[in-house]
Amino acid sequence: MSSAGTPAERPGGGPVRIAVVAPPWYPVPPPGYGGIERVCHDLVQGLVRRGNDVTLVATGPDGSDATYRPVFAESLPGLGSIESPVQEVRYAAGVAEVLAGVAVDVVHDHSLAGPLLGIGRRAPTVVTAHGPADGPVGDYYRRLGLPIVATSQAQRRLAPGVRWVATVYNGIPVSDFPFRVDKDDYVLFLGRLSPEKGVHLAVEAARAAGVRLVVAGKASEPAERRYLEEAVLARLPAASSWVGEVGGARRDNLLAGARCLLSPIQWEEPFGMVNVEALACGTPVVALNRGSIPEIVTDGRTGVICDRPEQLAEAIGRASSIDPYVCRAEALARFDVEVMVDGYQAVYEALVNAA
Ligand code: UDP
Repeated sequence: MSSAGTPAERPGGGPVRIAVVAPPWYPVPPPGYGGIERVCHDLVQGLVRRGNDVTLVATGPDGSDATYRPVFAESLPGLGSIESPVQEVRYAAGVAEVLAGVAVDVVHDHSLAGPLLGIGRRAPTVVTAHGPADGPVGDYYRRLGLPIVATSQAQRRLAPGVRWVATVYNGIPVSDFPFRVDKDDYVLFLGRLSPEKGVHLAVEAARAAGVRLVVAGKASEPAERRYLEEAVLARLPAASSWVGEVGGARRDNLLAGARCLLSPIQWEEPFGMVNVEALACGTPVVALNRGSIPEIVTDGRTGVICDRPEQLAEAIGRASSIDPYVCRAEALARFDVEVMVDGYQAVYEALVNAA
């Protein structure tokens, strides 16, 4: 097995040639919202830093140090709309065209339809399941029969029978995130404006706790806009604000300055990038106990985990006693990009050796 700082190795020697296929919806890296595309970016950068031979297949401008093979010059529109299945398969056909001209030892696919191409491929294909893997998606993965990587144990537990080969937590470049011990006087929600993210519960908790709430996130789809207007803007507590979608330093500074991040999730969150981004900034996470939360947040150490929404307001108060240094150290030890690259290199090596 390779050690930190060296590439994944082929049985006969030399680095494994890896093609990473990103989803088609946002550039890699994304300028704002885009958890999977950000993971793809940090992964390929980490792989390249270690001397791996990496090809990135994606849409939009070239933003990484890997060999770039764009399928489309612009990222595809239509995520979450009626046309999204067509865009998915159109992209997958484009990925097939592009990969036909690239010599690879392993394909690591992060898209939805792309893995269908892995069935007949000579090089092994491994897929990371970024969403919930139960229900129809789990059935799809089972029928594909390809090796699948989970991003949390919670995601894996919900989908027995899928060919899980590893659990690799998503990683972020922790040292690039600003770290702040002295916090400003607000609590933060950051993410998609969707009921499954529990933004309405964040609003009610901030109201009950009497604290200022900043809501930042993506509300580009019609359902997201409706939810924003009805469940969030109409109930926002005094002095609170909706700041829209944020990216870059603005996003990072919002995370670093917050007393806590609110994650009152209402679904079986498969990972939740925002939670580890908050920890990297020394910001504790106040969350509901669903999905990956108990794997990411340690109650009383890096945040407060509540069983019921009514407990969130009091938890906001308790979050002030959490040590920001402990949050940062936890992010570095468990969710840094280097830990993720270690995990994936081990997966690639195992697959290439078995092939
Ligand atoms: N994000 C962002 N700007 C926003 C909202 C979200 O940069 O206005 C980022 C956020 O920091 C995270 C990603 O988008 O990196 C969302 O990923 P997460 O896993 O938290 O949620 P999901 O993929 O379920 O939407």
